[in-house]
Amino acid sequence: MYNPKSLKAEEFISHDEIMDTLSYAEENKANMPLIREILDKAAKRGGLDHREASVLLACEDEAVLAELYALAKQIKKDFYGNRIVMFAPLYLSNYCINGCVYCPYHRQNKSIPRRKLTQDEVRAEVIALQDMGHKRLAIEAGEDPKNNPIEYILECIDTIYSVKHKNGAIRRVNVNIAATTVENYRRLKDAGIGTYILFQETYHKESYEKLHPTGPKHDYCYHTEAMDRAMEGGIDDVGLGVLFGLELYKYELCGLLMHAEHLEAAHGVGPHTISMPRIKRADDIDPDQFDNGIDDDTFAKLCAIIRVAVPYTGMIISTRESQDVRRRLLELGVSQISGASRTSVGGYTEDERPTDTEQFDVSDQRTLDEVVHWLMEDGFIPSFCTACYREGRTGDRFMTLLKAGKIHDCCHPNALITLKEFATDYGSEDTRRLADEMIERELQNIPTEKIREICKRHLNDIEDGKRDFRF
Ligand code: SAM
Repeated sequence: MYNPKSLKAEEFISHDEIMDTLSYAEENKANMPLIREILDKAAKRGGLDHREASVLLACEDEAVLAELYALAKQIKKDFYGNRIVMFAPLYLSNYCINGCVYCPYHRQNKSIPRRKLTQDEVRAEVIALQDMGHKRLAIEAGEDPKNNPIEYILECIDTIYSVKHKNGAIRRVNVNIAATTVENYRRLKDAGIGTYILFQETYHKESYEKLHPTGPKHDYCYHTEAMDRAMEGGIDDVGLGVLFGLELYKYELCGLLMHAEHLEAAHGVGPHTISMPRIKRADDIDPDQFDNGIDDDTFAKLCAIIRVAVPYTGMIISTRESQDVRRRLLELGVSQISGASRTSVGGYTEDERPTDTEQFDVSDQRTLDEVVHWLMEDGFIPSFCTACYREGRTGDRFMTLLKAGKIHDCCHPNALITLKEFATDYGSEDTRRLADEMIERELQNIPTEKIREICKRHLNDIEDGKRDFRF
């Protein structure tokens, strides 16, 4: 039954294959020669399959874990350098006809005020986000064909890209909306979206159906096959994720990696990103109701294993997590974080962070300037770069560059240029000082001299008031 090339959900995410894998992992969790082989394979940077990764996840040996963490850190450094890409979510509408039991937007929730942004409100939110310094957004909406039809989402994307306030611009809009049709994915592609993100929530079909008792999202196969339809519609950057806490994490890691293997086998390109959300408290949601919550150590181990299993896939951590957890995961593999997020519809135009329409409780509540400052203090380069997709480096073209190690000549200078823009236009005095020091130091790490020289010119041009340079 298990067939990674199949386009049928239950064949590429085979429950039997997952159960077999978990037994195999349990039997081999202390099989040191096998674990040695797996670690050696991971060290060659070619990734691991779901079986190998599951053995590492089952293994509890301290020395193996220490080696795994060291390797994850090294792979992170080799593939992504010390750059961290910044983004913010923008909630368009919390109207939703689904019954997801973990999400406060579920249809039965009568206590949450329902809101949908008008185009003027979208413009105001975008101006507020631009005024913080954001260049990359992930738009979020509940599923409601009447209130949030695809035409509404497309209109919002147009509006977002059209806003040019002072030196601000949103240069990449990623989209996190419910599973839809090939035709709608094509329209999203034509609207110029970056990544299409859809969390699987859980790969366990039986649990999935219980956790999504009503509404279109109840259909496990339609949801699980969404990325195949997105790719058929021309979107080649897709983002996966599970909501940790809903099901057993060992099952989820296996399913997640099988999904990544399926995309590679069936479409020739793996996932662009994997998001790492954990379930959080929200309006009528108590995370303690769910029995499968994972502690911070397990979360870190999962992160490290994903890093070594799919080295070419970016990893995202949101403000669901605290500053401390985010700090730990940044080293182990995370390459993108959100900053100053508001998870409520219309939240960015309010002085105080509104909580009434929030999708979940935000743990990291710092301003974008504070997050940027913090990253630099810890030696990370906050990057507002959106160049790859604007230069057509998506899907397999992006992966080819990454695999050939050529991405550093683009990403590193682009990170410095966009950091300079941020610091000049939006940074506090201290952030500007730290950014200038960091840029000066990091210029030396651009491998090609010619590119280094062009980068220096662009940095001077930014001081002279020019904007939007990219490699
Ligand atoms: N409605 C869209 C869908 O059907 O996929 C996606 C948008 S939803 C705003 C984004 C994600 O938030 C969901 O996929 C879910 O994983 C996550 N989420 C929902 N409730 C949550 C909670 N209580 N804590 C943390 N994350 C939650």
